[in-house]
Amino acid sequence: LKSFQTKTENVFFTPYRANLPRNMIENSMFEEEPDVVDLAKDSTTFPALDPDEVVYEPRSSRLLVRGLGENEMDEDEEDCESSARLLGMSFMNRSSAHRSTSSPYTRQSPPRSCSRPSARTLVVCVLFLVIVVSMTMVLYFLPECTFTKSGCRKQTTPAEPVYPISTNGEMFPWAQLRLPQSIQPLSYELTLNPDLDKMTFTGTTVITMTVRHDTKRIVLHSANLNITKATDVTVLEYKPRQQIAVKFSEELKAGQQCVLTLNYSANLSHTYDGFYNSSYSDKDGNKRVLAATQFEPLSARKAFPCFDEPSFKATFQIKISRKPDYMTLSNMPKAKTTSLPSGLQLDEFEKTSVKMSTYLVAFVVANFTPISKNVSETLVSVYSVPEKKEHTEYALDTACKLLEFYNSFFEIVYPLKKLDLVAIPDFLAGAMENWGLITFRETSLLVGKQSSLLEKQVVASVIAHELAHQWFGNLVTMSWWNDLWLNEGFATYMQYMSLQTVLPKLDIGNLFLDVRFRALEKDALNSSHAVSTEVNTPEQVEEMFDSVSYEKGASILLMLNASLPGDQQFRKGIIQYLNQFSGLNTDTDNLWNSLTQVDVSTQHQNVSEMMSSWTSQKGFPLVTVDRKGDQVTLTQEHFLLTSDNATHTSSLWHIPVTYINDTCSLAPDCKQVFTLKTKSETLKVPQSIKWLKLNHGNTGFYIVHYGDDGWAALIDALINNVNVLTPEDRASLIHNMFALSRLGRVSFRQVLSLLNYMTNETETPPVTEALLQLNNIYRLLDKRQETDFVSRMKVRILSYFGSLMRNQTWDEEISVSKQELRSALLETACNLNVDSCIRQAKALFKKYVESNGTAHIPGDLQRVVFTVAAQSEESWSTLLEKYSKVSYDAEKRKMLQGLASTQDTRRIAWSVSGLQGNIIQTQELPLVINTVSSSFSGYLFAWDFIQENWNQLIEKFPVGSFSIQKIIKSTTSQFSTQAHLNQVQGFFSSLKERGSQMRSVQEALETIRLNQRWMDRNLPSFNEWL
Ligand SMILES: [Zn+2]
Repeated sequence: LKSFQTKTENVFFTPYRANLPRNMIENSMFEEEPDVVDLAKDSTTFPALDPDEVVYEPRSSRLLVRGLGENEMDEDEEDCESSARLLGMSFMNRSSAHRSTSSPYTRQSPPRSCSRPSARTLVVCVLFLVIVVSMTMVLYFLPECTFTKSGCRKQTTPAEPVYPISTNGEMFPWAQLRLPQSIQPLSYELTLNPDLDKMTFTGTTVITMTVRHDTKRIVLHSANLNITKATDVTVLEYKPRQQIAVKFSEELKAGQQCVLTLNYSANLSHTYDGFYNSSYSDKDGNKRVLAATQFEPLSARKAFPCFDEPSFKATFQIKISRKPDYMTLSNMPKAKTTSLPSGLQLDEFEKTSVKMSTYLVAFVVANFTPISKNVSETLVSVYSVPEKKEHTEYALDTACKLLEFYNSFFEIVYPLKKLDLVAIPDFLAGAMENWGLITFRETSLLVGKQSSLLEKQVVASVIAHELAHQWFGNLVTMSWWNDLWLNEGFATYMQYMSLQTVLPKLDIGNLFLDVRFRALEKDALNSSHAVSTEVNTPEQVEEMFDSVSYEKGASILLMLNASLPGDQQFRKGIIQYLNQFSGLNTDTDNLWNSLTQVDVSTQHQNVSEMMSSWTSQKGFPLVTVDRKGDQVTLTQEHFLLTSDNATHTSSLWHIPVTYINDTCSLAPDCKQVFTLKTKSETLKVPQSIKWLKLNHGNTGFYIVHYGDDGWAALIDALINNVNVLTPEDRASLIHNMFALSRLGRVSFRQVLSLLNYMTNETETPPVTEALLQLNNIYRLLDKRQETDFVSRMKVRILSYFGSLMRNQTWDEEISVSKQELRSALLETACNLNVDSCIRQAKALFKKYVESNGTAHIPGDLQRVVFTVAAQSEESWSTLLEKYSKVSYDAEKRKMLQGLASTQDTRRIAWSVSGLQGNIIQTQELPLVINTVSSSFSGYLFAWDFIQENWNQLIEKFPVGSFSIQKIIKSTTSQFSTQAHLNQVQGFFSSLKERGSQMRSVQEALETIRLNQRWMDRNLPSFNEWL
């Protein structure tokens, strides 16, 4: 899945995107430990125990065998647990229910402190011990268990698990959120009959299964499906967990095969998941409907009953009926079409040649047109609505190039005969990697004739990401969502890596650098989580689709690759991993072990040892440099942004520290490596060097503090000559300095002293990073109505960048890097009301309107032009009129951002009407809210809006999903006062199960507190510094 977030969408009209916090869950992994399994299977010890009843309770890393191990719980927990069962609540949900009672905003379980026991506790304990000892003696000395026989037996007989009640009143035979392991599906035959007039569908699912362990029941997933008929069995349903079950009076025996046939009916979904309906207006203005699927992570069960967990891989054979004027697509090529007596056509697809997880199944019923091309044995096609066929060529060309690249890079050829890329008019994510049938948002796949390279960059990177998933995710799949990063971190890393090779003109390196900076900012918060994190509830599964899985995942892979000797070891390792686990499921250790095994160098490096320090704990290190002559002491500590100074963690990382110095700082072989594994170590450098810069190219996932002298030497060097460091290294210094200021380690005066060199800076990475950081502060000051400081800040920004802003042209610009630089500079300039910028933007808009759309505004300047235009009453209306007519989606999106940036409150209210999906598609609402929130007139309105419309919002955008994360961040991240903190806290805690437990809520609160602290610390001295 590719979440829809692009640099161009987010940079300068976005509020404080620096902060996406997150809270910690314990790092324990969701795995069955071997002793757990053995214990359960040892039937002589526990005769009544079904292997599936063994529960590994990961939250507290404790083993629970139902009816046996629960006495380990303390009383509170036990009460909570048993009442949860009485209420039929999920056992896994208990953890969150329990959490919420301790503190609504702390996900972190309170440390079990070893405080000294009180006298009363001691007395109680002694008394308890005496009782236990006397009971034991009584039992020991009694020759037989004579007092009550049943009382004795109770010690060894496991209690029956408490099962919930099915919809029909019968007992539901399964009490957990995860499915039992006793049944393995082998193949599915699906027949689907969608009715696009009535927005309903019927289906038949035939599942062939094998029995792994003797069992009396089959449990699988089904959600919102009305099961009308099943083969000679009664189907029980337990809706809260989206499970159905079939009970048998006789045991199914291990090794047996069985077939289950289920007929059902359902409505096409009105949200963006499951089998959902989508519509668009064709060129004559008629509404056309279509149906498409989005199953990842938990929605295949909304289209057909299935074992909807990634490790239950099976084959699929799919048939779909349709009206003659429609066409259908699915994962595999079409095998045949037959006419039905009803006048409908039935399309049958080939059986999948590979085993796949349910979340990768897909089908589309629409009237799209394709263009196609062959890459070795694979037919690659791009589909769109007929009107947009002319926008598909770039995607086809790019997909073919990338497919060739991956085929040879992974040394495993893409295994299917066809690969379709389909632009779906209504689609929430950026794209979805369904095997053989990748679905996209129109803006992530279609490129207009006049598109700029920056727009092509968006499309190429989404395609590169989804194609990488055909190997990472589809061929080798994570066993459970706790290791989602194995899919997403890899796809994200491969997306940048492949484009650097295949399409170097797209300058993807700047974007990747920016992504790493943003990932650091999010991971610095206490609410962050380990890359590989325990996941239990559906909301927690949704929440895994976040910057840690994607961007930190990609960043640590880059760090690993950069630290391995030679450039082939990493590649060899992943080829080994893909081959070893092809068609299977894996966890993080499998990956590190494969990479460790491929030891092609003489300098052996234990990848497992190094990388687990990055995946099993949250956060990242701050490396502090202390140089005395030729001795350099490096010290690591957890870079933890927290509003109270008390929190210290003892986390240590295995850091491949790279460094360069003034005698050699530009060529790649200047880089030296030192591995810091302990808290503090010393290395030797020549006494004569003037300065050291660590984290060469910012390929490492850590922040560096050089101390007063170290920073002073670097700043001196830059003021003399900016070219002593690469642009990436300059950007890295700027990023680290602002981060240290947020941490409270350097004063804002030190930040400004580094920025003094900016007047000589012209390169994209350092300029865009500095602008982003300064804009963030500017916005915070603006929202607090610190008018005097706001204007001083403006003067500052213009003193650094004024001349660079004036040097920008407003014509077509060829290089991507220059486009990035120009749009960042001009958006800031116009936002600060710089006269010449406003004038130019208005003139360009006027020309565009008068030419009746023939005069083109360069793609990278469209947003700034539309935003400036939208500030006047008349051109806002003109823009709205254009918006309803323009068909090219990337341009349309920028117009929408313009419309939403208005300062007129009535119009702001109009922009968020997208929730109704009339003029503005509902899929664009997160973008609209983001834009509205960044303006002074809009930010309080946006906050009110989400409070008033929360229920409708979470109906469209599920709790925990990327869209909801983004909405929360947009509306809260510019608050910096106690009053706002209280409001935000009050609102989210009132939501309870409708979202109060979300990590993004933690992030929001933490961010506000940090904003508040930064302001308290720095505002008093602004008078002096600014
Ligand atoms: Zn993805």
